[in-house]
Amino acid sequence: MGQHRVVLIRGDGIGPEVSDAAQRCLEATGVRFEWVEALAGEQAIATYGTPLPEQTLELIRQVKVALKGPVTTPVGIGFRSVNVAIRKRLDLYACLRPCRNYPGVPAPYADVDLIVIRENTEDLYVGIEFAAEARETQTLLQTIAQLTGVHVAAGSALSIKPISRAASQRIVQFAFEYAKAYGRRKVTAVTKANIMKETDGLFLAVAREVAQAYAPQIAFEEHLVDNLCMQLVLRPQTFDVLVLPNLYGDIISDLCAGLVGGLGIVPGANLGQEVAVFEAVHGSAPKHAGQNRVNPAAFILSGVMLLHHLGEREAAERLQQAVTAVLKEGRAVTYDLKPRRNDASAVGTREMADAIIAHLKRRPVQCP
Ligand code: NAD
Repeated sequence: MGQHRVVLIRGDGIGPEVSDAAQRCLEATGVRFEWVEALAGEQAIATYGTPLPEQTLELIRQVKVALKGPVTTPVGIGFRSVNVAIRKRLDLYACLRPCRNYPGVPAPYADVDLIVIRENTEDLYVGIEFAAEARETQTLLQTIAQLTGVHVAAGSALSIKPISRAASQRIVQFAFEYAKAYGRRKVTAVTKANIMKETDGLFLAVAREVAQAYAPQIAFEEHLVDNLCMQLVLRPQTFDVLVLPNLYGDIISDLCAGLVGGLGIVPGANLGQEVAVFEAVHGSAPKHAGQNRVNPAAFILSGVMLLHHLGEREAAERLQQAVTAVLKEGRAVTYDLKPRRNDASAVGTREMADAIIAHLKRRPVQCP
């Protein structure tokens, strides 16, 4: 078995603790890694004077795969979000979040198994905004009135929502290819195309085109985002793979995390043409930092996604099963997974990882 080179960004806050847990679990699968450490977030500011050094971006570009702990977004030094900047700079156009129930994890539903695929590069998140009363805004409002005859209220602020054919095509194609690779049966495109006929309309038209190439093996379905919200609350089990433009994707992925029990168990990946960055959905939870207290499962499950990406499917399955078993037993789990948050039997981050590793080692090794 060869060795996989992976950039490891431990991050800050609870990042180093969950990274240590995930790193130990990944190594316990028997897969061999060469970890290349890089800095982002608070530690990077201390060393490089910026939360996102060029050296880190360059290293990820070279190595092509990274496991990234959460990083705190510094307040007041120019960055909207280090995480958004990483996605932009590396053109990580697809955000992938599997949201599924785990027996033993308290959640409002059972049998949910959803994949949320969010377009990461355009839509209202491109950050083109015009402030209320600014001179450029007034010019733009006049131009809009001339071109469309629509007089937007004076003093309005504006945000621009670009949606392109190319970006829509690559994200929908990504969703279908994912469905094909992982034996999924249905892709649902989510828009508000009845109102935003041009932007969301384009996304939907492209989705319909792309879907044809995968029929009838993979079914295609379309939903308006408002109706999807209601359906997710009523019958989340009827959905499989969801593909969404950036803003709806952001909101719906949090909704789906809530359906299955929250931040502690939802992993994630940001994927580009060549580069892949794996990270949990949760942030750096600074108030818990350094206390060996938080749940490492979401980050370890991001490691499972990393193993799949590296083609280590068997190891990925074993690690997934070990996490599932520990969650189901409900004994060696952190406080957030106990029925009561002050449960004295809750274990620490390290000990939960130890229990997962013990499960991994318990399985007999099968010789060929
Ligand atoms: P957060 O996810 O860090 O924490 C919110 C709350 O969720 C915590 O106080 C904690 O009670 C709980 N929580 C989070 N992770 C947990 C875990 N693994 N186990 C148990 N409980 C957990 O969100 P926030 O407080 O909004 O953000 C804190 C910082 O993290 C901010 O600077 C934000 O920008 C950053 N952030 C980073 C990422 C990332 O690096 N991908 C993602 C989101 C937020």
